[in-house]
Amino acid sequence: MMGVNEVFAVPVVFADRFFMSAKSLAEISSVGGFAWADARDSQDLADKLANSKSVQILVSEYIRIGTPVLERAPGLKGVIAYGAGYDHVDVDFAARRGVLVCNCRGENAQAVAEMTFGLLLCLLRKIHLSDRYVREDRWKRTESAALPEWITGRELRGKTMGVIGLGQIGSRVAQIARGFDMKVLGCDPFAHPREGVAFERMVLDELLCRSDIVTLHVPLTPATDKMIDARTLTRMKPTALLVNTSRGGVVDEPVLLEALKEGRIGGAALDVFASEPISGNHPFTELENVVLSPHIGAMTQEAGERVSDAVTRQVRDILHGRRPECLVTGRVM
Ligand code: NAD
Repeated sequence: MMGVNEVFAVPVVFADRFFMSAKSLAEISSVGGFAWADARDSQDLADKLANSKSVQILVSEYIRIGTPVLERAPGLKGVIAYGAGYDHVDVDFAARRGVLVCNCRGENAQAVAEMTFGLLLCLLRKIHLSDRYVREDRWKRTESAALPEWITGRELRGKTMGVIGLGQIGSRVAQIARGFDMKVLGCDPFAHPREGVAFERMVLDELLCRSDIVTLHVPLTPATDKMIDARTLTRMKPTALLVNTSRGGVVDEPVLLEALKEGRIGGAALDVFASEPISGNHPFTELENVVLSPHIGAMTQEAGERVSDAVTRQVRDILHGRRPECLVTGRVM
């Protein structure tokens, strides 16, 4: 294990633990090598970097790459966000230091889109509660024979889905929704039309008023920070369901919690939280109209392979002075 005073003598440092395929690791070894920092947090990573001049690339899934880290890696050329979100990277500061920032855009879109429908079907068909019902040995054939009334679900067909953010993930969600015979509304001031992605474009408030299901696929930025708050929640139908597989900060969680408790919206499926991990006694866990998952939207074997490949391609590009395929610009949080 590397001590605090040891310096990384490799060009690529993985800040936290994430999946990298054996093929990818072999390729990165062949262009100079890598080390796992296994950092607990940003300060820990900064301490471990210890002004190493060898480190040219940092890859991070969750560890914040801000001033303390960037200042302790004088040889740094690039930061690669492992996945799509890069709100944990201080893009402005990196740009001022001449450090490239890239992500792995699109590589996990299918995984997150499928997860969105997984969560939604769970919520609509009470799959999580039904599973518990069987395991707790409550499924009995009695005189009345009927299953409890709460177990009856609802269908997706004919419902209106409001997709907020129609980038890689939101577009895929919109396409899949059509397959369920849903009507699709979309809000994204910046998205260009994409072939095969059909939706009715509108502003946020109109989308919220008209949707039976609202699903969030925006990055966390100053403009999207708590975009679902006390004001916007009141626009939603009292039966509406909210799905969040984007970033926890996009939703004002205490306000959502109150709205769920008071039945001002129908339910929520949450894969992401403002502060992760949440504890097993978080107030969300007390609500039956809520489905929770531990930020696993992108966690499929297939997406892991694709992201690992994208990291490797961009490592090679940065080390060889080429422009990496997924450069990001602009401020996120
Ligand atoms: P993307 O950049 O392809 O798409 C984001 C879209 O949001 C863009 O089209 C952009 O124009 C739009 N947008 C930005 N600001 C907006 C606003 N104020 N209102 C409406 N639309 C706005 O990114 P993506 O690959 O689709 O990923 C979206 C987000 O999902 C990521 O930033 C990340 O935070 C999150 N994500 C979560 C998981 C997970 O495991 N749960 C995995 C991958 C990505």
